[in-house]
Amino acid sequence: MALVQIPKKLLPSDGRFGSGPSKVPHAALEALAGSAVIGTSHRQAPVRELVGSVRAQMRELFSLPDDYEVVLGVGGSTAFFDAATFGLVRERSQHLAFGEFGAKFAKAVAGAPFLDEPTVLRSEPGTHPDPVAEEGIDAYAWAHNETSTGVMAPVRRVDGAADDALVLIDGTSAAGATPLDVTQSDVYYFAPQKALASDAGLWFALMSPAAVARVEEIAASGRWIPAFFDLTLALENSRKDQTHNTPPVASLFWTDHQLRWLLDNGGLPWSVARCEDSSSRLYGWAEQSDYATPFVSDPGKQSSTVVTIDLEGVEAAAVSAALRENGILDVDGYRGLGRNQLRIATFPAIDPDDVSQLVRCIDHVVEKLSVEKLGVEKLGVEKRGVDHPAE
Ligand SMILES: *Cc1c(COP(=O)(O)O)cnc(C)c1O
Repeated sequence: MALVQIPKKLLPSDGRFGSGPSKVPHAALEALAGSAVIGTSHRQAPVRELVGSVRAQMRELFSLPDDYEVVLGVGGSTAFFDAATFGLVRERSQHLAFGEFGAKFAKAVAGAPFLDEPTVLRSEPGTHPDPVAEEGIDAYAWAHNETSTGVMAPVRRVDGAADDALVLIDGTSAAGATPLDVTQSDVYYFAPQKALASDAGLWFALMSPAAVARVEEIAASGRWIPAFFDLTLALENSRKDQTHNTPPVASLFWTDHQLRWLLDNGGLPWSVARCEDSSSRLYGWAEQSDYATPFVSDPGKQSSTVVTIDLEGVEAAAVSAALRENGILDVDGYRGLGRNQLRIATFPAIDPDDVSQLVRCIDHVVEKLSVEKLGVEKLGVEKRGVDHPAE
């Protein structure tokens, strides 16, 4: 018996609100079951056609200029941090670290013995710093959307930067869900298990001619680059609609499926509007609520795909545990941030009406927990441990 039983009429149709891995729609799961592509060679036509379809649909979704390329490889965004360390930073980079992921990339670069110490700009959690043109910097890097904090940063060229300095943007939890002028970046890369409703294990990179030239320049310099992280190999293989080593084919399939769904519904503008609708239902509620507040206070920096909400007077872990018992999953705050917070994904695959239902469920749970707490206080006994809910 659950500690708090949420009435059926309040429950969302799908309880997956995690920020990654994220909800893969049931239609996509069923489509995979009906497909003959899993368990077949990635060097044969069916899988290569799948890769070709993903690349073509990304070109369309992101309105890619003709001279930009869609490159892909195995290993996810974290692997791409290393690929970029080996193959895109010439000597010295600047990183914006306003959460877990930007900091991780900075750390990868800082550890590379063939690169100079990077500049790392930080800011208070819940905000973001801006890039600053700096002498000797050949790559500027930040996340479009910091999945750990729910802060969104603009994608734009750095005023005063050297002409050949690259802009490297991690779009993992933003790609296909937020407005993007891809020409403001040289590499816009992402893994598909967040905003793109797929599973993990792949990275995609939308690369400008300047980025391709940098890859070629560094490869020609004789720098040692392990094959797994070698962007020249990734480029060569991508142009043939394949990957250097075996890709997770289901992830390719679901990425393709989601891209088609987005394009059929109206493409990026439709997707952007849907995420803004979903996220504003949460921000609007939190602003009205007497126990919830948006963690990111500047509306201009509030993510439309990962919403972080601070709670007061009620334990977020208890709320999340009670929701979990009712099939509403993964709304816990990011561990590293250590706040009394809920983090809720509002990716395109998540139905805005389910977000409204989630809000009703949170209110219900908080009310029940508060009543229980009051009752417990009156009786003078200790509150039951909510981290280990009763069976
Ligand atoms: C999840 C995430 C990553 C890491 O992705 P993996 O595929 O797990 O390596 C990197 N950057 C951002 C912004 C993310 O949200």
